[in-house]
Amino acid sequence: MSEKTPPPAGPAGREQTIVCALCRVASPASPPPLSWICSLENGVRTYCCQDCARANIRAIEGRLDTSWW
Ligand SMILES: [Zn+2]
Repeated sequence: MSEKTPPPAGPAGREQTIVCALCRVASPASPPPLSWICSLENGVRTYCCQDCARANIRAIEGRLDTSWW
């Protein structure tokens, strides 16, 4: 017997679908594949899909360089 709990209607849901921060594409897996880039910005995990990572890798690294310190 498996009960499925419907997701709460609100931003309070803990289990959120991981989406790309840039193009909003949903991750194909619950832990995103290694091709996805996970960056930590202000304590918030941001995921970037493979395509966006390729397109914005320099910008991401640049942002990391400036906001990391
Ligand atoms: Zn993307």
